[in-house]
Amino acid sequence: MTGKPVIAGNWKMNLNPDEVRKFFQDFRPNLSSGSAPEVLVFPTSVSLFAAQVALPADPEVGVGVQNIHWKAGGAFTGEISAAMAKASGAEFTLIGHSERRHLFGETDEEVGLKVGAALGADLVPVICVGEKLEERREGRLSEVILRQLDAVLPVLGSHPTKRILLAYEPVWAIGTGETATPEDAAEAHLILRGRLVEALGRENGGTIPILYGGSVKPDNTAELLGAPEVGGVLVGGASLDPVSFSKIVEAGAGA
Ligand code: PEP
Repeated sequence: MTGKPVIAGNWKMNLNPDEVRKFFQDFRPNLSSGSAPEVLVFPTSVSLFAAQVALPADPEVGVGVQNIHWKAGGAFTGEISAAMAKASGAEFTLIGHSERRHLFGETDEEVGLKVGAALGADLVPVICVGEKLEERREGRLSEVILRQLDAVLPVLGSHPTKRILLAYEPVWAIGTGETATPEDAAEAHLILRGRLVEALGRENGGTIPILYGGSVKPDNTAELLGAPEVGGVLVGGASLDPVSFSKIVEAGAGA
């Protein structure tokens, strides 16, 4: 792993502004000085401001949005642009989360457009890829995650100096309690790393952190972070509870 592990919480459509304030009152990871991993949270857009106001100073916590539109503005009811998210204080954005892809029909092409918009607005994209259970059973892990990655490589290649995070999130492990084993995670992460290096070169492609996501909990974080090429975790359900997210952050400090 290069750099600190990244521990990111995707709050999905949960935690209103009051609940976000309460979350940060109870979020108290026990860390020795200088050991904190990089911690990120992704509230809903309506709770973004409350999160920024309530963020603790120690550990530092970065904040991002869960989705953006690729257009700069216009008649797109319900959407927000990358520049709007940035102007509202977001530093990061999730892109291509499996719920966006599979519940809202987001395509690989749209994911590529969103990554371009994020980088153009100086938001750090956390690009999510992952295979469905039937695709895994059909032996198509590599084909699916590489297809999803290939859709964003041209835009990554044209922004070589920008920070990018990738997240491998097998769809069968999201919100199901089924966690990939460290070996499963390593297999997918090594496939992704190989393609990143091939396409972007060792200096750029070799250093993009690849997070694992899918039923991460306090008691499996350390072993997942110990797997080859796992540079952090993207946590859904277990990030909603400040005590369990604190424990995951503590596990990240020990990694
Ligand atoms: C997610 O939605 O990004 C996720 C990994 O969810 P969970 O941890 O609940 O499986």
